[in-house]
Amino acid sequence: VIELDTVRKEFGSGTVAVEGLSLSVREHEVLALVGPSGCGKSTTLRMVNRLVEPTSGRILLDGEDVTNSNPVALRRRIGYVIQNVGLFPHRTVEANIATVPGLLGWDRRRTRARVAELLDLVGLPAATYAKRYPHELSGGERQRIGVARALATDPPVLLMDEPFGAVDPEFRRHLQTEFQRIQQETGTTVILVTHDIDEAARLGDRIAVLSRGGKLEQVASPLAVLAHPASERVRDFIGDGA
Ligand code: ATP
Ligand code: MG
Repeated sequence: VIELDTVRKEFGSGTVAVEGLSLSVREHEVLALVGPSGCGKSTTLRMVNRLVEPTSGRILLDGEDVTNSNPVALRRRIGYVIQNVGLFPHRTVEANIATVPGLLGWDRRRTRARVAELLDLVGLPAATYAKRYPHELSGGERQRIGVARALATDPPVLLMDEPFGAVDPEFRRHLQTEFQRIQQETGTTVILVTHDIDEAARLGDRIAVLSRGGKLEQVASPLAVLAHPASERVRDFIGDGA
């Protein structure tokens, strides 16, 4: 579904965020993308979603180069849970979740119903939360709104950047379970970025490990990565995460 072909991203400052990254994400799979802070995980997601253009290499979505796709069409096909949430501060919870439906011209009734359904799903009832602004929410609540927003139009592809980071361990477990249920029901293809190797192992069909400088160290099943780390850097990362 998603194919990265020797993708490289160098920022103006001379920072190489991603180097020679080739990776295919299969239909209906959850690929957990892990690695130390600054290794290029968020940059990789942003390139798939065209918020950042690669310096070289190609990214294909269903065989089509994303550089040639219309950004609105891309937003409809790709849901994106942004690291540190990135809600629009001057928009209510309801308006935040309705961002992509708005772009697609959904009518009010359909939008309302969908917003209520999604708020239920993330455990924040519409009656209490729909009209609030992001600054009236806790960090974990904001994060859950970020997840609801990404799911609004049932996108076939979901990019999630540390989606469960700011919630307490118990609730994180709950969200992980919900996530698994939805993912299995809908067959969504997911790239899940996380620092947490346990989360990667629990939710990922495969794990891709990046090292600093954005190099791919290993991509394999959770069992294979944990039992047979391909390099010292993978071993270090697993050790750190455990
Ligand atoms: P974290 O786990 O901390 O979120 P990450 O793996 O998501 O880290 P990225 O945000 O992809 O890391 O950043 C990779 C590298 O690229 C870092 O060295 C970062 O400083 C650099 N970088 C990211 N965005 C920019 C930018 N817009 N301009 C310059 N350098 C950038
Ligand atoms: Mg990041």
